[in-house]
Amino acid sequence: MNVKQTVLAGMLAAGLGLAGCDVITSSQKGGAVERLFGTTSDGQAVKLFTLKNKNGAELQVINFGAIVLSLKVPDRNGQLADVTLGCDQLSDYESKTPYFGAVVGRYGNRIAKGQFTLEGQTYTLATNNGPNALHGGLKGFDKVVWQAQAVQASDGPAVEFSYLSKDGEEGYPGSLAVKMVYTLTDKNEFKIQYTATTDKPTVVNITHHSYFNLAGAGEGDILGHEIMINADRFTPVDATLIPTGELKPVQGTPMDFTKPMAIGARVNQDDEQLKFGGGYDHNWVINQKEAGELTAAVRVVEPKSGRVLEVLTTEPGVQFYCGNFLDGTLTGKGGKVYKHRYGFCLEPQHFPDTPNHTNFPSCVLQPGQTYTQTTIYRFSTVK
Ligand code: BGC
Repeated sequence: MNVKQTVLAGMLAAGLGLAGCDVITSSQKGGAVERLFGTTSDGQAVKLFTLKNKNGAELQVINFGAIVLSLKVPDRNGQLADVTLGCDQLSDYESKTPYFGAVVGRYGNRIAKGQFTLEGQTYTLATNNGPNALHGGLKGFDKVVWQAQAVQASDGPAVEFSYLSKDGEEGYPGSLAVKMVYTLTDKNEFKIQYTATTDKPTVVNITHHSYFNLAGAGEGDILGHEIMINADRFTPVDATLIPTGELKPVQGTPMDFTKPMAIGARVNQDDEQLKFGGGYDHNWVINQKEAGELTAAVRVVEPKSGRVLEVLTTEPGVQFYCGNFLDGTLTGKGGKVYKHRYGFCLEPQHFPDTPNHTNFPSCVLQPGQTYTQTTIYRFSTVK
């Protein structure tokens, strides 16, 4: 089916608080409806895709930063709530948000002092996080317009994204051709499949940066959520959140989530690692049987709504960040204010600063090789 209809912007835009679009074209392909979301400050049109699965779950994504705008999933009584933090306006995504819902790359997380050496050559990146480089630079994958089209995957409605990151962009070597498929499966999973190829040796670490609150975005802090992380070790950091290089056992530390534990139970303990992060902002080493094997990495339960989020990934690590830098200065969707720890991120990834640590799983991509990653955010409920 490919229905094309033109409607007045006012009708649709009013509901989403959009301004300045005269006409919106909405079309349906497979299970996804596509329409204009807005225009970037440099004049590029941004599309909004709405995906619905057989159970009524709904995922909205835009092709600016491949951002998840909203993700509505049921609670134990079947009531839908939007469980991701975000904004109503494109301009907020361009300038204000701390990577709400976005893809992060070319290198997610930190690279110490914005420098690394690859095959004898030293590369210098912008330092945008204290002395370090964070999340791909000044204009990372979260701030570019991706090519995007709706498709019907075998397991649900999907959107295919692609982006060519040019040789030298944000200081990284090699032209990197990135593809991603976002699927809302009929099992209430948000699935991301990534591939990338390069024409010169480079480093790649792409991740997803949704902030979740399983009680609903803006509905209080996430400290009562119970989290279990399938990891016996984590990568301790220095005061600037750069790994020391050690893979440290979690046992006997507040980083031990091998059994379910409320996020808030130990987050304020007098612990050096927690002080460095202002709370949890660390990378866990996922217990994988084999490198690259899709592994159940994290399970989070929100006891009041009964919503459950499981994260499965082929990546070796996961950054668990509990929204320590949210401070109430950001107003999100529907005018809700996002205060301290109102959302948490689970960012499957290679370990932070891998280009400067030979003992970490390599993030180097060579010409002729294909980078692949699958990550699944699976939603269900408990009684
Ligand atoms: C980082 C945090 C950072 C947040 C938003 C996370 O991935 O680990 O330190 O504040 O992203 O930028």
